[in-house]
Amino acid sequence: MKEYFLTIKKRMEKTMLTESMLKAINEQLNFEMYSANVYLSMSAYFKRNALNGFADWMKLQAQEEFEHAMKIFDYISAKGGKIEISSMDAPQSEWTGPLNVMQYTLIHEQEVTNRINNLFQIAHENNDHSTSVFFHWFIEEQVQEEAQVNEVIDKLILVGDSSHGIFMIDDKMGLRTNAV
Ligand code: FE
Ligand code: CA
Repeated sequence: MKEYFLTIKKRMEKTMLTESMLKAINEQLNFEMYSANVYLSMSAYFKRNALNGFADWMKLQAQEEFEHAMKIFDYISAKGGKIEISSMDAPQSEWTGPLNVMQYTLIHEQEVTNRINNLFQIAHENNDHSTSVFFHWFIEEQVQEEAQVNEVIDKLILVGDSSHGIFMIDDKMGLRTNAV
């Protein structure tokens, strides 16, 4: 049995990620899980404040972040790296309104974009082409993430303090059905 595991190790070493690359990818895996918690916390906040459309939208967003984490989980696994799940900080739980939440979301997604760009840079410096290609998908995804949040922010700015306007946007947010 011992021999068998040694054989696996030897075979995997050929395609293994460098230590710094693996560490950075694991960090991103954990950050995607943290993002899921952030959005789940926002969903709960909206639910408490009678904005069910926003609440459902955030819940789907949380699911999507978990899926991003699983994408990375599968990648590390396929490359024979060790997956390390770490503890994480509790996300914020109170905001001052929908615009405040969406602005926080935009800042959070900009942080994600920076992190993904950094990972892409490390992959490049390591001549790690498979990891570069893997993070291509995430780079594209971040363009969509930031664009969709900006769109909601624009609408919220347009309606200002009008509860009627906010409920109209809430209805529209509730139409989201997919976690992509
Ligand atoms: Fe993500
Ligand atoms: Ca998305």
